[in-house]
This record gives sequence, C-alpha cells and structure tokens, in this order.
Amino acid sequence: MHFHDDSLFPENQEKLVIQAAPYGPEWLPGDSEDIPLTMDEQVQTAVDCYNAGATVLHIHVRELDGHGSKRMSMFNEMMVRLRQAVPEMVLQIGGSISFAPEEGGNEAKWLDYDTRHMLAEIDPKPDQVTIAIGTGQMSIIEMMSDSDLEGTSIGNNPALYKAYRDMIVEAGPEFYLEHLKRLQANGIQAHFQLGHVAQLETVERLIRRGVYTGPLILNYVAIGGGDAGRHPADLVEFIRRVPDGAVLTIESLMRSVAPMNAVGIALGQHVRVGNEDNLWFRKGERTSNLKQIEQMVKISETLGRDIATGAEAKKIYKIGEYYGSVDETLSRLGMVPNRQPGQRGFMLRPEGSAGRV
Ligand SMILES: [Zn+2]
Repeated sequence: MHFHDDSLFPENQEKLVIQAAPYGPEWLPGDSEDIPLTMDEQVQTAVDCYNAGATVLHIHVRELDGHGSKRMSMFNEMMVRLRQAVPEMVLQIGGSISFAPEEGGNEAKWLDYDTRHMLAEIDPKPDQVTIAIGTGQMSIIEMMSDSDLEGTSIGNNPALYKAYRDMIVEAGPEFYLEHLKRLQANGIQAHFQLGHVAQLETVERLIRRGVYTGPLILNYVAIGGGDAGRHPADLVEFIRRVPDGAVLTIESLMRSVAPMNAVGIALGQHVRVGNEDNLWFRKGERTSNLKQIEQMVKISETLGRDIATGAEAKKIYKIGEYYGSVDETLSRLGMVPNRQPGQRGFMLRPEGSAGRV
C-alpha cells in the first residue's frame, strides 16, 4: 500500500472492521471462561461480539462433547441461526475446520481435500471461507510461553501439545486451485490467510494468471511456527507489499495481538481478536472475547478512527463483488497491468484509466 502524507489521518482511513474469532477451536470448554458449548451459547456469543463492535465473525462450530464439529449439518444449523441472530455481520467460516483434534486428543490433522471442499456447500452459504495458500508448518505453540499455556488443555496434555507443535497445514496447489474454483462458483468470497510475503506473491501470480478474479481480502497471520512472527518490520513490510485495493486484517497470537493490532489500526488496517488467538490481557491476567473487542474499539476511538457498522463492513470487505477479467481485477486491486510481449520497463496504469477499466 502506498502511504500519502495524509494516509495516517483517521478521517482518510476506512472505518475499522473488527473480526472476532470467539470459538477457540484449539481449546476445550474451561480453558477460557467464555468458550461457548451449546448451539444457543455459540449464537449468543456472536450477538455479544456484534454488540461490542465486531462486524466479521470467524466461525468454528463446537459439538456438545467440547470438540470442534466436523459435521456439515452442524455448520448448516449454525448458519441458519446466525443469519437470524446477527444479520448485519459478515459470516466467515474458518477453513481450518479440522483445526480441532480428533477425539482422543492426539491428532491435529487437517482433513482431506474432499471434506474441506464441502465448506463451499454449506447452506445457507456464508459470506466467506478462509483459505490457506501453500503447505507448511503451523506450530501454533511455538510462540506461546509456558505461562500462556498454563492451566489449558494443551498445556496439561503432552499428546495434545505435541500434536499442535507438529501441526502441518495441507494446502498445496491441488487443494487451493480447486477450492478457489468452488468458492467462486458458489458465490462465496475467499478470505486469504497469509503467513508471509512469499504466500502473498503466490496469490499475486494467481491473480495475474486469471486463476483468481475477485477482491483481495486477507489476514496477515503472524502466529509464528511457520508463519510470520512478531517482528514489526515484517508487519510493516507486509502492509507495504499489499496492493492498495486489498483489505488487510492483522492476526497475531496471545499477548502480541493487542500491540500488533494497535500498529495495524494506526496504519489504517483492520484487526482480528478473540479467544482463538489470545487468552491474556496483562501478564497473568486473563482476557475475554468481549474485553478484546472493547480494547480495539477504545484504541481506535482514541486515535479518532471510527468503527465500521455491519453494513459498512460488508462494503469495505466487498462482499458479493466479482470481476470479469484479469485486467479488471488488477485495476480494481490497484495493481499495474501485466506485461505485454515486447514491453520494456516497469508497468504503468493505462493512461486515462483513472484506476478503472
Ligand atoms: Zn479459525
């Protein structure tokens, strides 16, 4: 993104979109006081997050035994209930549906491709499904300290700890090419979860080759263990490398969530919070979904940046937008055109295009 002299002024920035991830699929009820168990509690959690200022809901569904649900019927039921309860929210299904370990607690294995492709068939359909780009390590405990894990199921269960320490994201081209196709065919927006600049470059190649022709809505996933860590220079560089027309949300882990998000808010980006990412406020002091959302509202308002309403969040996220061609996609994302045969030098936007084709 290009920062003009006036880009840091809140009146020139998009209103803040707060993404809530309140279902903590890697945790079990009791790991945090506010992990909802029943369907009613899960729906009420969404309502509470919305009332606190969150306008995007990152969804995982929990079974009554406390583990993450892998049943499509549960996802369908949750979607029906959420559409009624929080009609203004952007509903985003976590593509890492298999994030929760299998029963027995010794596996954190991502489900096979066919099962994950079923996320494109949820009815009623969500606004978005998150998608990882590229197979890699996702060791979610690498950046967690012993005190972060104290008293949690992962901290107390060596087998579970090991499963999450060694977790692999299975998302190679065979998966994401087909998944993007299915999401687009069903009118569901892909929400890219990118752990570093190399994954952003892969997405740019997909766009430049016409494989993906829609809005570029993404999270910078700075959770360590194979993804970016906490270095602010990497965060700022990622923001710098994202096209002007993209919508970027900062996602981090445990007590880096607030400071990383504070940088993101100051720089006009959006934020994600919730017990899926963080259980702590000050050292040794627990937080909650609602406290984390309220903290983001407070930081943003202190800087003079307004909080988006649900309708505004849907517009900012470009829900329902699709583009007809590679050129249109590049133009709408604020990216320069592809090189034509024989063209020398760096590419410029076409004269008179005013950024649109
Ligand atoms: Zn998730």
